[in-house]
Amino acid sequence: MMETKFEELKARLLEVNDISSAAGLLYWDQSTYMPPGGATARARQTATLGRLSHEKFTDPAIGKLLDALEPYEKSLAYDSNEASLLRLTRRQYERAIKIPAAFTAEVANHTSESYQVWTEARPANDFERVRPYLEKTLEYSRQAANFFPDYDHIADPFIESSDYGMKAEDVSRVFAELRQELVPLVSAITSQDPADDSCLHQHFPEEKQLAFGLEVAQQFGYDMNRGRQDKTHHPFMTKFSLGDVRITTRTKEDFLGDALFSTLHETGHALYEQGIRMDFEGTPLARGTSSGVHESQSRLWENIVGRSRGFWKHYYPQLQSVFPDQLGDVPLDTFYSAINKVERSLIRTNADEVTYNLHVMLRFDFELALLEGELEIRDLPNVWRERFEADFGIAPPDDKDGVLQDVHWYFGLIGGSFQGYTLGNILGAQFFSTAAKAHPQIPSEIENGEFQTLHDWLKENLYQHGSKYTAPEIIEQATGSPLSIEPYMAYLRTKYGELYDLES
Ligand code: ZN
Repeated sequence: MMETKFEELKARLLEVNDISSAAGLLYWDQSTYMPPGGATARARQTATLGRLSHEKFTDPAIGKLLDALEPYEKSLAYDSNEASLLRLTRRQYERAIKIPAAFTAEVANHTSESYQVWTEARPANDFERVRPYLEKTLEYSRQAANFFPDYDHIADPFIESSDYGMKAEDVSRVFAELRQELVPLVSAITSQDPADDSCLHQHFPEEKQLAFGLEVAQQFGYDMNRGRQDKTHHPFMTKFSLGDVRITTRTKEDFLGDALFSTLHETGHALYEQGIRMDFEGTPLARGTSSGVHESQSRLWENIVGRSRGFWKHYYPQLQSVFPDQLGDVPLDTFYSAINKVERSLIRTNADEVTYNLHVMLRFDFELALLEGELEIRDLPNVWRERFEADFGIAPPDDKDGVLQDVHWYFGLIGGSFQGYTLGNILGAQFFSTAAKAHPQIPSEIENGEFQTLHDWLKENLYQHGSKYTAPEIIEQATGSPLSIEPYMAYLRTKYGELYDLES
């Protein structure tokens, strides 16, 4: 009896999954190959599929099945796959039914308008043009939070939706700790002569860049039987099933760093999704567990592995043979410091792994202050400049490269959109250091271009579980301790202590 109901629930969830995957495929196509003329119809088609999957998921029949299955869930072990699926589905269902469909549609209309205005306002450096839209977005964001009135902090509902298990207070505490260590480190590094990265700014033909990046991705363990890479404007990873996990990248022929590290970043996301157990296919369990944990995998493979000296000991001679005219005379040390150049820069997405977190914390703090009503939208450009100058020692010369730079607030609600990036930096180091303690040969394997031990450890301890455990659960289980900034700070101090003088 219970088994029949359980199968019925799974069948319904599979339909929801299929509609969302179809919407994902439309989005992938839109971002890679669609001719511009398709834009209007595509927006409508994506919205239709989004509405259908939402309707199917919030169907009261699902609620009834979940109620009927509650005794069954309680009779099972907490970590059984069935109980985990019911637990996760219940959490997502209860969240989904609290937001009225009409509200979601209204917000979707508003944000697509806001996005349109932003695409013109940013190049024109015209914050005043988007200001009324952003004010409306903030209003919608407050309304959205209030569909979950038992929050401790008004940002909690947003943070919980991407990083379930953490609240504004937890993130603020971790960020305050990190900030205290990071600000002096950043100023010690940036007060020294910047690394010379001119070797990266030469002409590098696109084909060769793409081929090299994809070759490394496959060495990491990216399965091309279940994946592919295409070009786009803003790189991303997307999954239509566990058998089809795709990455996208972009190339700049006058800068070597962009395509290569974008590819390695998205490969990290893809390895996580490809590593999920096959029997989770088509269920809500078949995806990474939180934005922070997902980002930990992109950062681990991009930065901790892909920007390490050991990695390049092996791969640099190969890269030199691909680009003999450009890199033939450039020593490994020069190349290594170029790809790890730390500088005070205006743009978050171009920032190095040391300063990146300061960009994130600034945005996170502003999200909290805006939602709390402590900060007005009209004051945002000035407050941005002041805080940026305090943190980085430089002031953005305009709003274009200040408050207007990120798409997030102009294309969605305000809240919960940034903390995952820094949680990812912290967690990437925590997972890597645990793996390297369990298997001390990992660093020397990386020097030989071998990644199997590391990849296997991550699959075994993290990837296979998908969303079965929450982020705090899987962190504790895989690393033996809760989220901690120690491994990350140790990693930064060791790595950048070799590249810069940090003693004085
Ligand atoms: Zn990412």
